[in-house]
Amino acid sequence: MRAVVFDGQLRLDAAYPEPNAKPGWARIRVSTVGICKTDMEITRGYSGFRGVLGHEFVGVVDPCEDRALLGKRVVGEINAACGTCDWCRRELGRHCPHRTTLGIVNHDGCMADYCLLPTANLIPVPAAIGNDRAVLVEPLAAACEILEQVRLTGSERAVILGDGRLGILCAWVLSTALDDVTLVGHHPEKLAVAVWRKIKTAAQIDAVAPQPDLVVEATGSALGIRQALAICRPRGTVVLKTTVAAGEPLNLAPLVVNELTIIGSRCGQFRDALRVMTEFPDMPLERLIAGRYPLRDALAGFAHAARPGVLKVLLDIG
Ligand SMILES: [Zn+2]
Ligand SMILES: [Zn+2]
Repeated sequence: MRAVVFDGQLRLDAAYPEPNAKPGWARIRVSTVGICKTDMEITRGYSGFRGVLGHEFVGVVDPCEDRALLGKRVVGEINAACGTCDWCRRELGRHCPHRTTLGIVNHDGCMADYCLLPTANLIPVPAAIGNDRAVLVEPLAAACEILEQVRLTGSERAVILGDGRLGILCAWVLSTALDDVTLVGHHPEKLAVAVWRKIKTAAQIDAVAPQPDLVVEATGSALGIRQALAICRPRGTVVLKTTVAAGEPLNLAPLVVNELTIIGSRCGQFRDALRVMTEFPDMPLERLIAGRYPLRDALAGFAHAARPGVLKVLLDIG
């Protein structure tokens, strides 16, 4: 089969061995995949991963033992326990020392004609959701996680810092629950992408009315965290959506003085994201797609995805 492989260098393999599903697993004929920051980090050699890249996909289930899934269009959660070790046999698969991650840890990814996942990981996509939307389920789920973690009444004022893909998705998801949502970012073209429902945008944090009830930090910078702590109202909530790698000192005094609640927030449930896509078919997810390439031009797709400011590049496979 065709596959985008990283084995020290990124290349397209026209004759990669086709995978075969083992018991409890399904083979998926891949339709569309997204190129993600993680994929590009792997191609820079950061994680030591070797094999087929890709973890954001929508595809169709090949013949498998689970008849209910046969021929279904699906997305899939990317972590897989081995299913056979002592931990797994005691139904503690989340502690399985052999667990793998699609296209990231010891598990060939989805940038290929076929990939494998446990049937339990697969979630059918409702017919009304097209492939270009379904392939964005993972980043949308990460944004939906905020609604899972923060109880909102609907009257709160929210400010999101950072106009990258995640910041925009957080603004969209919050605007389904709140009337007053402002996205702050430095890129006029990305702020233009973000406009939907009643979302307001601002190029500078000074332009935002102070003391919002909820601040979502999605800049990935220590400055963003400082700003979030500084503007949030007393007893308000700050959601940290990105990890800041730099070990910069952070003054936590505002957190204590203003009795803020800080919530770390990462991945979400795919089902929640599919529900949001169904309930809000006008959510302009397609605007995030900056380019698309057939699999044979995957390397050009990776080059496009690496350009600054590009939100999402897709590869069309089947
Ligand atoms: Zn990803
Ligand atoms: Zn196991």
